[in-house]
Amino acid sequence: MSVDEGGICPNCGLPQDLCVCETIAQEEARITVTISRRKWGRLTTVVEGFDKNIDLGDLATKLKGKLACGGAAKHGTVDLQGDHRVVIQGVLAKLGFPEEMVQIDWPFRRRGRR
Ligand SMILES: [Zn+2]
Repeated sequence: MSVDEGGICPNCGLPQDLCVCETIAQEEARITVTISRRKWGRLTTVVEGFDKNIDLGDLATKLKGKLACGGAAKHGTVDLQGDHRVVIQGVLAKLGFPEEMVQIDWPFRRRGRR
């Protein structure tokens, strides 16, 4: 059952203490921020793509506090009431998610520069 019994990473085959798979996974993590229009036309900011190890409930609480909005964490996603795309990168950066890791989707911005 236990894969790491011998101390070898099943992913790269290196001993656990040399393995950098987890670090790479963290660096390659992509957090995406999208906007979703819910009932009654209310906008919800949907943040997803967090690593499984991250406590989303805790993160949602921090985000709600910093953004002063309602929201909830569920199924690997954090929903935040309102459109927070303009500020969320900065807020996430303060919580340990660098801006380059966070990708913002701007579906409602029609005149975007390209
Ligand atoms: Zn590995």
